Amino acid sequence: MRQITHWIDGKAWEGRAERKGPVYDPATGQQAAEVAFADRAVLDQAVEAAARAGASWRDSSLSARSKVLFAFRDLVDRNKKEIASLLTAEHGKVLSDALGSVTRGLEVIEFACGVPQLLKGEFSENVSTDVDSYSIRQPLGVCAGITPFNFPAMVPMWMYPIAIACGNTFILKPSEKDPSASVLCARLFKEAGLPDGVFNVVHGDRETVDAILAHPGIAAVSFVGSTPVAKHIYETGTRAGKRVQALGGAKNHMVVLPDADLDLAADSAVSAAYGSAGERCMAISVLVTVGDVADRLLPKIRERIGKLKVGPGTEASSEMGPLVTKDHHARVVGYVEKGVAEGAELVEDGRRTKVPGHERGFFLGPCLFDRVTPEMAIYRDEIFGPVLSVVRAEGYDQALDLVNRNRYANGVAVFTNDGGAARRFQNEVQVGMVGINVPIPVPMAYYSFGGWKSSLFGDSHVHGREGIHFYTRGKVVTSRWPEPHHRGVNLGFPQMK
Ligand code: NAD
Repeated sequence: MRQITHWIDGKAWEGRAERKGPVYDPATGQQAAEVAFADRAVLDQAVEAAARAGASWRDSSLSARSKVLFAFRDLVDRNKKEIASLLTAEHGKVLSDALGSVTRGLEVIEFACGVPQLLKGEFSENVSTDVDSYSIRQPLGVCAGITPFNFPAMVPMWMYPIAIACGNTFILKPSEKDPSASVLCARLFKEAGLPDGVFNVVHGDRETVDAILAHPGIAAVSFVGSTPVAKHIYETGTRAGKRVQALGGAKNHMVVLPDADLDLAADSAVSAAYGSAGERCMAISVLVTVGDVADRLLPKIRERIGKLKVGPGTEASSEMGPLVTKDHHARVVGYVEKGVAEGAELVEDGRRTKVPGHERGFFLGPCLFDRVTPEMAIYRDEIFGPVLSVVRAEGYDQALDLVNRNRYANGVAVFTNDGGAARRFQNEVQVGMVGINVPIPVPMAYYSFGGWKSSLFGDSHVHGREGIHFYTRGKVVTSRWPEPHHRGVNLGFPQMK
């Protein structure tokens, strides 16, 4: 059995793990590898290595840091196919989709290459006569990242390139379901010239995460995953005095107004609901049709679903791969059964989809529910699979109200050809990322990514300026280089002149 182990202090960890977890090939349903789980002693080794490396990394010049980041950017670019194939092997998503996600991660590395510009502070001359003030941003120390299974390369890249560019050192705890890509990236970062100990990868489950949250040597935690875990991470991490940003789950709505281009809306709904088998935090899982849209749009959507090719991610003809694990497959199928029992109309039933030669793989075809209502579990809960629910709304106000009442607020989209309606929607909707005729409005690396309400705990979104802000703390210096006329005792409150 292939063994996957930690990456600490610039090399693969060689100890014997007491606990391990299975890693599957979701297309065959077979176990493909075993991954070591870190206990407190292993985490201590990683924190010690990171703290040691941090003593000099924080003082490395900005140009030295950006040089390493540029080299890392080139290595990730040259190896992106290999990274993508690891994603397909362990997550199951199709290769083209995996490659796209690596490219989005690469864009964050490119953003981090500009760190000398991004860390510039402010300077005010003569805040008083001969007194200057300036602000600087300094690294926090050892930072940790805890990431989900659905983007094993991209989501960690939202975090560690920026943290490291800012002068921090980093410990990544990737998802135990698809851990290999992180180790490959750590090797590439070393090859790029990153000093040992600046970037470490420890694997594990809840026990490892709880050790991270309790560790006094870790200053900040970035988390991306489901809402209950995000809340736990935020509450436990901040109670321990850490800076925490915790991005949670989603239930993204796509509102289609009666004047929308319905062919565009149908293409977008199918792509955004079923891409990556619905295992995207920005996937569309609720389609809100306004007025008579449902009767005109659903036939177009069903026609497109009928042509989707479900199959192993390694086959070039596949458009949608399997779900990540058997347990997750069972959970999603459970929701389909619940939807039927609750009275929603299952108009496309993906349970019937078979992939010849891959009968034991975790495949589920696209499922489409019509006439879903807000009380149903399939509407309330995040399913995280290829299940799209159609909710019919009478008018714009009802559609907006539905979105704004939802506890999740990661992404939302509106489809319309009316600029005024779109502008009103982007102003009134209470969601962090808004698409106008764009179903998956993921911000570019130089903007920040994050939701509102139960989709994010903490103040900072990831990457962009907010990422730089999260991984640094501000300091303001007031300085005077004494001239003779300043000498002499003065007990009065300083008067600005
Ligand atoms: P998850 O919450 O189960 O796991 C995320 C991480 O937390 C993993 O590293 C896992 O090992 C760890 N973990 C799991 N249970 C834990 C527990 N009880 N205590 C401590 N740590 C625990 O999420 P997942 O299933 O890997 O990923 C899917 C979820 O992530 C979905 O809810 C999706 O919406 C969300 N997600 C959100 C975003 C976003 O930007 N908001 C992006 C990607 C994924």
